[in-house]
Amino acid sequence: MDFSLPEEYVMLKDMVRKFTEREIMPLETTVIEREASRGLTDTPVLPPEEEKKLLEKTKELGLWGIEVPEEYGGQGLGHLAKCLVVEELNRSIVPFTLPPDAPNLNYLVECCSQDQRERYLLPYVNAKKTSALAMTEPNAGSDASNISLRADRRGDKWVLNGTKIFISFGPKADFFITIAVNDRNKGKKGGFTAFLVDRGTPGFTIGRNIPSIGEMQTYELIYDNVELDDRQVLGEVGQAFVPLQNRFGVRRMELAARCLGMADRLIQLMILQANIRHTFGKPLADRQAIQWWITDSTMELNAARLMTYHACWKADQGIKDLRLEAAMVKVYATEMLTRVADRAIQIHGGLGLSKEMPIEYIYRLVRILRIVEGPSEIHRWLVARELLKKNKGYDLFEM
Ligand SMILES: Cc1cc2nc3c(=O)[nH]c(=O)nc-3n(C[C@H](O)[C@H](O)[C@H](O)COP(=O)(O)OP(=O)(O)OC[C@H]3O[C@@H](n4cnc5c(N)ncnc54)[C@H](O)[C@@H]3O)c2cc1C
Repeated sequence: MDFSLPEEYVMLKDMVRKFTEREIMPLETTVIEREASRGLTDTPVLPPEEEKKLLEKTKELGLWGIEVPEEYGGQGLGHLAKCLVVEELNRSIVPFTLPPDAPNLNYLVECCSQDQRERYLLPYVNAKKTSALAMTEPNAGSDASNISLRADRRGDKWVLNGTKIFISFGPKADFFITIAVNDRNKGKKGGFTAFLVDRGTPGFTIGRNIPSIGEMQTYELIYDNVELDDRQVLGEVGQAFVPLQNRFGVRRMELAARCLGMADRLIQLMILQANIRHTFGKPLADRQAIQWWITDSTMELNAARLMTYHACWKADQGIKDLRLEAAMVKVYATEMLTRVADRAIQIHGGLGLSKEMPIEYIYRLVRILRIVEGPSEIHRWLVARELLKKNKGYDLFEM
């Protein structure tokens, strides 16, 4: 067993760390101020002109398309490389992501036809188009089998009718991977189809934005007799669920990587504060309660890192069914960060609660991460169900 990183990955990680500290962290004050002052509006917390500059700089540094297969013009470095980069970027609270957004990349690579590759995949890989995934509905969140947005066949067209809710990237996305019911009776085995719906398609509108805790914004999407031809079906008719599961797996690992970066930053802040802050004639660092918070946080971060890197490594070996690993890292990393953020606030006292530090921002953000991409309870249920069905415990080395 070899725990060392390839030289190429070490250099990549180091480069992104320096870039994050030099170019991204200085924008944190702006992000905090914009988030606090925007009220119920959906003003982006990262000013678009700053995002544009960061995109240009990261392109120059060769940071785009890290996980994109070489045949599509990417670097083909895989999931572990992307995870290391996401982790480093998330040491800052500035919500900056590198193109393309990995989870939908996997969906598109797996399902696009030749024609869709030209129209969607390649522009997406080159950051000329951005995407969203539209699955959740007012009556279907954790339980996706309740989706009711209909895709009816009329002549040679598909006609979509229904509403989606809580969809990220509403005003930004150029196309929406939309999950619809084509045959209610077949359920998950043949009854759900994915469609590529372009912004501006007649009958398709972005509805209200739904302000909520933290920085992320979501939107309602309305499909009113949206007519699509067969070229807009992504993958096989009725077979949306298997590629969707694979897409979720990658997304959950990426969420875990984000948590690693945030926790790493918080622990660093905890250590600094423990060393400089004195109470009752001694530094906080001398108090056992404080020492244990730092130790517990470090142990938990280490465990989350090992689990996440292992899941990424498995994905890089070409293993597609990562449901167990993805569920476990999603639960463990998001709950780990919840505990670390809480301890970080406690060590900093009033300062930790203030908007002069990034801690309370992370504290609110992580609350979202325990619900999006499936709440913790659903993932725990999935893991238990799989183990009980197999009648044996989890095998780290099973491929
Ligand atoms: C910021 C944000 C961004 C989002 N972005 C997107 C997006 O881009 N695209 C998209 O499609 N969706 C998106 N969502 C929706 C998100 O995926 C759903 O909110 C999530 O899947 C949970 O669904 P729900 O809110 O309907 O909760 P429900 O399904 O109503 O569940 C509520 C709670 O019930 C409990 N629960 C449910 N089932 C079980 C069970 N079997 N056992 C035990 N407990 C259970 C859990 O505690 C759960 O938190 C986003 C949501 C947010 C908040």
